[in-house]
Amino acid sequence: VNPDVIVVGAGIVGAAVADVLAAEGMKVLVVERAFAAAGATGAGMGHIVVLDDSPAQLALCAWSRRLLLELAPQLPDRCETERCGTLWVAENDAQLEVARTRADVLAQAGVTASLLDARTLADVEPALRAGLAGALLVPDDAVIYPPALCAFLLQRAVRAGASVLQATAVRSLTARTVTTDGRVLHARFVVNAAGVGAAQLSPELPVIPRKGHLVITERHPGTCRHQLVELGYMQSAHAVTGSSVAFNVQPRRTGQLLIGSSRERVGLDASINRDIIRTMLLRAIAFMPGLGELTALRSWVGFRPATPDGLPCIGRTRTGVWAAAGHEGLGITTALATAQLLAALMLERATHIDAAPFAPDRALPAA
Ligand SMILES: Cc1cc2nc3c(=O)[nH]c(=O)nc-3n(C[C@H](O)[C@H](O)[C@H](O)COP(=O)(O)OP(=O)(O)OC[C@H]3O[C@@H](n4cnc5c(N)ncnc54)[C@H](O)[C@@H]3O)c2cc1C
Repeated sequence: VNPDVIVVGAGIVGAAVADVLAAEGMKVLVVERAFAAAGATGAGMGHIVVLDDSPAQLALCAWSRRLLLELAPQLPDRCETERCGTLWVAENDAQLEVARTRADVLAQAGVTASLLDARTLADVEPALRAGLAGALLVPDDAVIYPPALCAFLLQRAVRAGASVLQATAVRSLTARTVTTDGRVLHARFVVNAAGVGAAQLSPELPVIPRKGHLVITERHPGTCRHQLVELGYMQSAHAVTGSSVAFNVQPRRTGQLLIGSSRERVGLDASINRDIIRTMLLRAIAFMPGLGELTALRSWVGFRPATPDGLPCIGRTRTGVWAAAGHEGLGITTALATAQLLAALMLERATHIDAAPFAPDRALPAA
């Protein structure tokens, strides 16, 4: 019997889509080239964060974070869910003004946020350097271990009747077929959730890789309590061309610190760029001088599936294929809402948020 839906890719987005569609009673087949979370999902940081680069991004993040916080009590311990909050650190008064504006924008979307003055910031995060201007606190942001969340969603889909074919590369697809080596699979719906591999299968999708480096330290519990990000991160994340780094430090439950973040457009070159790592670590040490005393255990790279306007492609493309790809640095945060939005469009129901900004065939700025 043919499945109703074939989902290509078992990253966090494919897993979330499979979970929602299987719960709807559809017969789902997930086809994955390698194994679950083998792509960006296994390489990322797992910061569940509301960004507000555009109203559409804010709406998707806020909705998805709410879905994740609702799901949190059901998640197994290995997901390492921590509602640690984000502190957006301001270096000067001008940045604190930016923080004030962002607090208002977030509040309008129902996202709690408040400003901390310099003294309060120093009290809550004493490892930060002296002389910072303050911070924007977003207390309901969280941290999660992405491969474990991906596995949870996939297993729940399987319990609802989905099947997963791993180690099976998809060579081509159409609106109703998926071709692997030696097999043509048929379904009513085909969903392309192949992350940075999405455009190879559906050239109409404007998804390009943006490389990121991460570094993890030895265990040093208590160094910081929140995910710490510099306010300049938004500018860094915005720059579509060139390379950029920003201070971004995450406390893991193990007591380790996960240090990011960088962005480069170098295709799928997976080599470690020592200059980028050095710049990234110097930036982190500039904000947290004590980091220089810790040993870095490991560094690695991953590829964010980016689009020219910073929004994912969610919906039906002009070829009839369904897309759930292009989540750049927010796919862990936005996977649950992506899956709900895609399911509503597929099942021709009202959508919880406006789907138009995510239409795969929308007009895009030149890359
Ligand atoms: C360094 C870094 C830090 C990040 N930090 C964060 C963060 O803090 N918070 C956050 O929300 N997001 C973060 N992200 C982004 C997040 O990881 C991604 O947006 C998300 O993982 C994308 O999920 P995906 O399922 O679309 O893609 P992927 O996880 O890449 O999954 C796609 C899957 O498709 C498979 N595939 C590809 N081509 C084929 C094919 N032809 N046939 C079969 N299978 C195929 C791949 O093997 C892969 O498993 C970060 C990313 C990076 C790289």
